[in-house]
Amino acid sequence: RAKGAGQDSVCFYDTEMGQFVRERRMLARDLRAAIDTDSLAVHYQVQTSVETGEIMGYEALLRWRHPVRGLVPPDEFIPLAEESGLILELGEWVLRRACADAARWSPPYGVAVNLSAVQLVDANLPHLVHEVLVSSGLSPARLELELTETALIRDRARSLHAIRQIKALGVSVALDDFGTGYSSLETLRSFPFDKIKLDRSFVQDVCTDAQSLAIVRAVTALGRSLTIAVLAEGIETKAQLDLLKAERCDGAQGFLMGRPMPVEDLPAHGGPRRVADEGEGVASAVPA
Ligand code: C2E
Ligand code: MG
Ligand code: MG
Ligand code: MG
Repeated sequence: RAKGAGQDSVCFYDTEMGQFVRERRMLARDLRAAIDTDSLAVHYQVQTSVETGEIMGYEALLRWRHPVRGLVPPDEFIPLAEESGLILELGEWVLRRACADAARWSPPYGVAVNLSAVQLVDANLPHLVHEVLVSSGLSPARLELELTETALIRDRARSLHAIRQIKALGVSVALDDFGTGYSSLETLRSFPFDKIKLDRSFVQDVCTDAQSLAIVRAVTALGRSLTIAVLAEGIETKAQLDLLKAERCDGAQGFLMGRPMPVEDLPAHGGPRRVADEGEGVASAVPA
């Protein structure tokens, strides 16, 4: 019955895989349409100083409200946009939106924008960043670009060249999801990052797991010796924040301080300087 089984698996492939591919193709088509319609939005999540609780700035996070499927998470549509080549257009759209929004906030607040690997190896990226800064009027010192290690792996030489050009503009660069990549230490040695964003997975268990705590402690110490700022991602509880404060971590981001929210809901337009002043107000604000 081996022959029959073979036919079965071909059949399985045709239906299940075929459907998967068709669905992805449809989603990619819808994503293209989303750029031209009003279904994309940039939400912002606050980043604070661990020591003072002051707002430092906001991370821009892309949101797609699909007409039928509802909110599609970026972890689903960003890879799709990368495969279909749409990411360059999408990334440019986010950068323009984020810089235009940030240019209207009180001057100290910065904005952090995520970059994909495809954008990083695009030779036009430094020119684009420069042009967007000029046209938005945002000071380069208020823009930060976030890269993951996976984005650098694609072409390390070109990535390094692009990062140097971006830094020459006065824009800072952060290493996102730190600790989850292949060779985080080698990456820190080879690339001139201004900030380490310690991945949420370490912060999550920091109060209950000795290994996680040891890693958090080691990374904050590493940041201090390299004079690279360390920001902890995904802080959800006061206990986690207190622990990071004890470890002298520089920055904090997470649902405790605020969920990603539409620009009009941000306190950045002259609102309170300290998230703590808002108490539950920020935490209970419109979720992403
Ligand atoms: P990321 O850059 O590491 O962004 C942080 C993610 O963690 C966000 O998910 C945020 O909503 C979530 N988060 C923040 N605080 C907490 C917390 O306390 N608990 C939990 N459970 N989650 C928290 P989001 O918005 O779904 O984005 C997922 C990823 O998609 C981002 O990870 C980033 O890699 C990518 N992404 C989002 N927007 C863009 C974009 O404009 N361009 C590119 N290339 N990638 C983007
Ligand atoms: Mg990020
Ligand atoms: Mg991250
Ligand atoms: Mg991530």
